[in-house]
Amino acid sequence: MTKQEKRDYIYRAFPCMGCKENTHYIDEYYMVTKKVWTKAVPEIKGMLCIGCLEKRIKRKLTYKDFKNVPLNHMGGGFGQSKRLIDRLGISNPMSPFHITIEQMISGLLVIE
Ligand SMILES: [Zn+2]
Repeated sequence: MTKQEKRDYIYRAFPCMGCKENTHYIDEYYMVTKKVWTKAVPEIKGMLCIGCLEKRIKRKLTYKDFKNVPLNHMGGGFGQSKRLIDRLGISNPMSPFHITIEQMISGLLVIE
């Protein structure tokens, strides 16, 4: 696969079903609980950006809505947008996704 083919594949694989924004490009690749996802997407399959997911469930997401999986801790090699970081509660000590400033600086993320 060439670089361009890879880019095209990624573009097609990650469109938000609401606003059509590419969720990969806006750094919103995450996993929420089945309960939240099926409320927003009864057909299960597809991608939503944070904004469109929140519009569908009619409230703001909190860290409790996210699955405790490596993807949500480190973005699975993807970046994490400001609002995704905010909803994951990365600065909130109560959140399982919380990381300290020291960890943030060193880039050392510990998954328990
Ligand atoms: Zn969207």
